[in-house]
Amino acid sequence: MTLVGHLINGRVIADGTRRQAVFNPATGQSTKQVELASKATVEQAIAAAQAAFPGWRNTPPLKRARVMFRFKELLEKHADTICALIGEEHGKITHDAMGELQRGIENVEYACGAPELLKGEHSKNVGPNIDSWSEFHPLGVVAGITPFNFPAMVPLWMFPMAIVCGNCFVLKPSERDPSATLYIAQLLQEAGLPDGVMNVVNGDKEAVDTLIEDTRVEAVSFVGSTPIAEYIYTRATAHGKRCQALGGAKNHAIVMPDADMDNAVNQLVGAAFGSSGERCMALSVAVAVGDAAGDALVSRMQEAMQHLKVGASSDSRNDFGPVITKAHQEKVVGYIDSAEAQGATIVVDGRRTQVDGYEDGFFVGGTLIDHVSHDMTSYREEIFGPVLQVVRVDSMQEAMALIDAHEYGNGTCIFTRDGEAARHFSDNIKVGMVGINVPLPVPVAYHSFGGWKRSLFGDLNAYGPDAVRFYTRRKTITQRWPSASVREGAEFSMPTME
Ligand code: NAD
Repeated sequence: MTLVGHLINGRVIADGTRRQAVFNPATGQSTKQVELASKATVEQAIAAAQAAFPGWRNTPPLKRARVMFRFKELLEKHADTICALIGEEHGKITHDAMGELQRGIENVEYACGAPELLKGEHSKNVGPNIDSWSEFHPLGVVAGITPFNFPAMVPLWMFPMAIVCGNCFVLKPSERDPSATLYIAQLLQEAGLPDGVMNVVNGDKEAVDTLIEDTRVEAVSFVGSTPIAEYIYTRATAHGKRCQALGGAKNHAIVMPDADMDNAVNQLVGAAFGSSGERCMALSVAVAVGDAAGDALVSRMQEAMQHLKVGASSDSRNDFGPVITKAHQEKVVGYIDSAEAQGATIVVDGRRTQVDGYEDGFFVGGTLIDHVSHDMTSYREEIFGPVLQVVRVDSMQEAMALIDAHEYGNGTCIFTRDGEAARHFSDNIKVGMVGINVPLPVPVAYHSFGGWKRSLFGDLNAYGPDAVRFYTRRKTITQRWPSASVREGAEFSMPTME
């Protein structure tokens, strides 16, 4: 039985107190266990990060960036190993894991530009012989807590930027698929990072609660479900920490009557069912404007879904794999049952999907549900499975009102040929990331990622320019060197530049 431990102060260790099984969701079997860190182990990681901080914050940004250049090369060199680990524990198909890793590597590439990003701002002569400038100082020890669905990409949203800005990091990955994340952290160590700058503690609530309460941790980045995001944000900020907590989603795509329907269907199939719908940007609701668009959409989706291939991660002919756990499989099936019970039409039913040779796997087939309404449980809550629901409305205004009324505001998309309608949509919709004929509008690494409403708690988005702001503290210095020959008297009024 393989044991997944912690990376603390440059060494992989195990504290041996509590452990949990890690499953291969395609086989339904467990061949690994993950350590669940005790409070004392997390405190050891925080202490290691704190001890490494003085040396790391004074390391020139260019030298910090060089570690990231080497790290990027190691990630590329070991991509097959990383994606195999993701496949074994998460279940996503290798080509999808490669896509996730590539999007993660792009954040490392952005981090390589840190010397430019950290240059600060300078103003000469803000007053007589007075200059002023702003510097961006690292915070100290910062923590990241990440979800199961992107074990490579989401951690890479956080620690490369935090570390290149001069901070030291403690990461708590998902306990459901921890191996790829731990392996990536070891590659960063191999890239030449000093011991203690990057630490990984595996674990559950005990580890998380320690991180969000310990006074030595200055900031917390969280990505996961909304109830936990809200809990982390409330608790971490109450303990005086800076916090950004990204939560769940219900991403709608409006299909306008003038949309290129073949294109919309192709895009929807990929965005709804890719990674088994376990993406926070997955399209899970299609809003058809007008019955003609609704009928065309449903019949073409039904046709396209006949070709969906569900199976194990290692067979790259598959389109998507199992969901993460047996409990999650039952939850997804439960949402489909509830939609049926509340009056929706199950057009394509993935509830009883079996994969030959993987009879115990946690599979749910692609599911299409028509005539869904806004009061159904399956519409209101995040399903996080390979389920696309169709809501039919009469106008674009009605479609937009539906999206705006939903508690989540992560991503959305409109399929249309009408530029005016698309512009009106992107200008007015209350959602953080908008696609126009682009189904998964995940911002590239040099923009920042974040939803609106209950999809994000905090002020700054993840990665990109917002990450520089999140992981640094501004200091503004105002300087004058008085001439020894001119002595000024005390000034009691508010200083101005006169
Ligand atoms: P989750 O909220 O269950 O877990 C996320 C992290 O929180 C894990 O590390 C977990 O160990 C920890 N955690 C879980 N329960 C906890 C508790 N009671 N107290 C303290 N810590 C706890 O999320 P998940 O199931 O791993 O991931 C799926 C969710 O993440 C979905 O809701 C998805 O939409 C969301 N997600 C959001 C984004 C985004 O950018 N907005 C990105 C990816 C995933």
